[in-house]
Amino acid sequence: VFDNIRNALTRFLKGGDYEKSVEEFIRELQKELVRADVNLKLAVEITNRIKERALKSEPPPGISRREWFITIVYEELTRLLGGDKKPSIKPLKKPWVIMLVGLQGSGKTTTAAKLAYFYKLEGYKVGLVAADTFRPAAYTQLKQLGEQIGVQVYGEPDNNDAVSIAVKGVSFFIERRTDIIIIDTAGRHHKEEDLLDEMRKISEQVKPDEVILVIDASIGQQAHNIAKKFHETTPIGSIIVTKLDGTAKGGGALSAVAATGAMVKFIGTGEKIDELEVFNPPRFVSRILGLGDIESLVEKVRRLQLDFTEEDAKRLIEGKINMRLVYKQLVSLRKMGPLAKIMQMIPGLGVKLPLEVDPKQLEVKLSKWLAAINSMTYEELENPDIIDKSRIKRIAYGAGVEIDDVRELLKQYELMKKLSKQLRRRDILKKLGIKP
Ligand code: GDP
Ligand code: MG
Repeated sequence: VFDNIRNALTRFLKGGDYEKSVEEFIRELQKELVRADVNLKLAVEITNRIKERALKSEPPPGISRREWFITIVYEELTRLLGGDKKPSIKPLKKPWVIMLVGLQGSGKTTTAAKLAYFYKLEGYKVGLVAADTFRPAAYTQLKQLGEQIGVQVYGEPDNNDAVSIAVKGVSFFIERRTDIIIIDTAGRHHKEEDLLDEMRKISEQVKPDEVILVIDASIGQQAHNIAKKFHETTPIGSIIVTKLDGTAKGGGALSAVAATGAMVKFIGTGEKIDELEVFNPPRFVSRILGLGDIESLVEKVRRLQLDFTEEDAKRLIEGKINMRLVYKQLVSLRKMGPLAKIMQMIPGLGVKLPLEVDPKQLEVKLSKWLAAINSMTYEELENPDIIDKSRIKRIAYGAGVEIDDVRELLKQYELMKKLSKQLRRRDILKKLGIKP
């Protein structure tokens, strides 16, 4: 499905005009999000945000455009889904009454039992209420599942008043000191209004602590409207996306989140009772994008955006200087850089502070040097020693800066190398607590 994106990304790798590349990427991304069942309006919103971020800054050195873009896309989608963290699944009080709502076939009854089993294993006393009086044998289905997992089910097979069953079921379990009470409801009525009306009444009378919308991943583009309708009837507190073991990308979940403001808590990944997982936003975003292990990529980009790491310091002291290190040091001149700090820690170190730049010129220089670094090849970044006259010319031309700017940058590199040597000679490694 994501071939177009992959192609766009491949074109990125080849370089070219940055803004144009962004535009092209955004167009493809928008199409692909809609194909993955994200609602169009939402897809436009997301991609606009991504575009804004992408245009504000080019990739940090050492990061390709492809990697940079995926990182931004990933971060924006993950943020929409609640960030890096797993959702909190602990009930805030006891008893905790959960009401499941959703269309017929979405997986409510199965999910009710899965949830009951999940919480039972967490050590809670759980009860199930069978309040679907519309579907024939709905009670029997839940009853059997309850027996399978050893959870009591309250139901009245001969009563077709779902509201009264829900009310009686909840007090039945409260009397028995149940921690978590889960109400399974109908997903269809003769008329849609009847269904929504019934949900409203149950919600008004039972006052559940949490209404969970159960939504089938394969429902596709309808997800937005379904979620909206239910949300207007009974405010949705959280979402469970089922059937993610199927082929559906599950982009509808993004739309449901946007339509309700609720977070996805669990996902269903199969018909079996234990096939329920706590929602993991990063993993889900990777799935939607179909781009494999994004998490470690994001990790890599974040690392590069950080200040000097311990590993960098080690490299510095071991003399393994590369352009990335130089760049990091240059950027940190804005604050007091790590080198300046190191210098202060070492009394009598007879070196003039290297990489000294007139603060007034710093920003201008930095942006020129950054441009130069951006037009270096991977090889040149790793081993700046290979940069000869003709390479300097090429880099300057590619970056749109003067040859002297590139030379100055290389001088910074030489200075850093020199300092590194001095540090080594003075056995600083030990003093700084870094093992060689
Ligand atoms: P309800 O009408 O909303 O109560 O839906 P049911 O719980 O009766 O489920 C409808 C069908 O979907 C059943 O055949 C379930 O086994 C199936 N189902 C539910 N959740 C999942 C899931 O996560 N993965 C798969 N593959 N099937 C599921
Ligand atoms: Mg059902």
